[in-house]
Amino acid sequence: TPYKVGLTGGIGSGKSTAARSFSELGVPVIDADIIARELVEPGQPALAEIVATFGREILNPQGGLDRSCLRRLVFTSEALKTRLEAILHPRILQEMERRATRLTTPYCVLVIPLLVETGQKDIVDRTLVIDIPDAIQRQRVKARDRLSDTEIDAILQTQSRRAARLAAADDIIVNDTDLATLQRQVEHYHQKYLFLTSQQRS
Ligand code: ATP
Repeated sequence: TPYKVGLTGGIGSGKSTAARSFSELGVPVIDADIIARELVEPGQPALAEIVATFGREILNPQGGLDRSCLRRLVFTSEALKTRLEAILHPRILQEMERRATRLTTPYCVLVIPLLVETGQKDIVDRTLVIDIPDAIQRQRVKARDRLSDTEIDAILQTQSRRAARLAAADDIIVNDTDLATLQRQVEHYHQKYLFLTSQQRS
């Protein structure tokens, strides 16, 4: 199994953008969000469990998961959120692990938005946090998702405080400048991780 770098950060911090840069350097990227989406496709056991827990009203007419309905439900209740996470997190974890095991590269990147918040830090060998100042985060998310300030406030409040994330970091990318600067930082860490893993194996 390759060395696992967990890439995490708040909403709109640049996780996907950084992941793309790693991928362009030939590093395999495993994305928890993509796996989460695949896990709830029609016919998957996780979807059946979600229906058993939340009722058929979280299905759309096509029999697929009505994400906005589910999001609304877990937004209103901490208990429901916990139950959803109990269905999804172990499966996501297991699937990421399964995919990582098949890789032959020295290291891989696992993109896990809530790595710190869910206390899963120990599933990776190293935590890389991508950080941006709150004002820039607000600006970029607003431009990308066309959300109102109130909607953004609600989302940002459910995220762990920036400080907690930074405290959990082994490595930090500050994504407050431009794409070229982000790319340079990714390249820096790429070299670092190649070095780290070459040391470990010898
Ligand atoms: P989410 O948590 O919502 O999945 P994310 O952390 O994956 O978001 P991205 O989608 O990579 O973040 O970036 C958020 C937005 O900010 C995107 O529109 C992206 O193009 C832009 N962005 C990211 N990094 C930079 C940068 N260095 N310079 C300019 N724009 C950037």
